[in-house]
Amino acid sequence: MKTYNIAIDGPAGAGKSTIARLAAKELGFVYVDTGAMYRALALFFLRKGISPEDISGIRAALPEAEVTLHYEGGEQVVLLNGENVNGLIRTEEVGKMASVTSPVPAVREKLRELQWKLAREADVIMDGRDIGTEVLPDADLKIYLTADVSIRAERRYRELVERGETCDRDELEREIAERDRQDMSRAVSPLKRADDAVLLDGSLLTIEQTRDEILRLFRERREKTGDARQA
Ligand code: C5P
Repeated sequence: MKTYNIAIDGPAGAGKSTIARLAAKELGFVYVDTGAMYRALALFFLRKGISPEDISGIRAALPEAEVTLHYEGGEQVVLLNGENVNGLIRTEEVGKMASVTSPVPAVREKLRELQWKLAREADVIMDGRDIGTEVLPDADLKIYLTADVSIRAERRYRELVERGETCDRDELEREIAERDRQDMSRAVSPLKRADDAVLLDGSLLTIEQTRDEILRLFRERREKTGDARQA
C-alpha cells in the first residue's frame, strides 16, 4: 500500500522537530527525527574515542553500531545497540560530532537504509537535511523550514536553560552558524532547499502557524491528487 511521506529539511534550531512532531500527531503519522540517528552514531564514535578526522576508524567501527528506533506513547526512542540514548544525544558536543561525522558516505548509507525502511512501512513526517533532496525525492510534500540564526540561537538557549544546562548565548549562535556552514557547504548531501520544496520562514510564524500551514499544504495536495490509497 502507498504510504504518505512528508519531508522537512532546514538548518539547526529552525523548529523542525517540534513542528514535525505536532503535525504528525495531527495527521496520525509517524514522526522520524533523522538528526537523532546521526547523533546516536556520533555518541558511539565519541564513546569509542574516535576522532572525526579518522575516516577509516569511523568506517571500521560502523558495523559495531546498531541504531534502531522504536516508539513509546508516540515518542521516538533511539536505541544504540539496544540502549535508549534519547537523554544523551541532545548536547552541543554530540551535535557538533554529528555534523562532522555525518558527511562520511558509509555513515549516510547506513542510516539511509533505516530511513527508507521506515518511510516504506508507515506514513511519515521525516525531518533532517537531505530528506527532500535525497532520501525521499518523491515525497508527497516537501518543506524547507528556516529561521534567522539569532532567533534559532535564542530558542536553543532557552531550551538548554530550561533543562538546567548553562551556556553562553553568543557562543551558541556562533556554533549554530558554524554547523549551518558545515551542513550547507559539504560535498556529500549538503543542506539545500529542493527545487519543489515550499519555503517556510519560522522567524515570521509561530509554531502553531507553521504546523497549520504544513497541514493545509498537505491536505490541499492530497485533495488535488485524490487520495492515492483509493486509486
Ligand atoms: O537535526 P540535528 O541538529 O539533530 O542534526 C545533527 C546533525 O546531523 C546535523 O548538523 C547534520 O550534520 C546531521 N544530519 C544530516 N542529515 C540529516 C539529519 C542530520 O547530515 N538528515
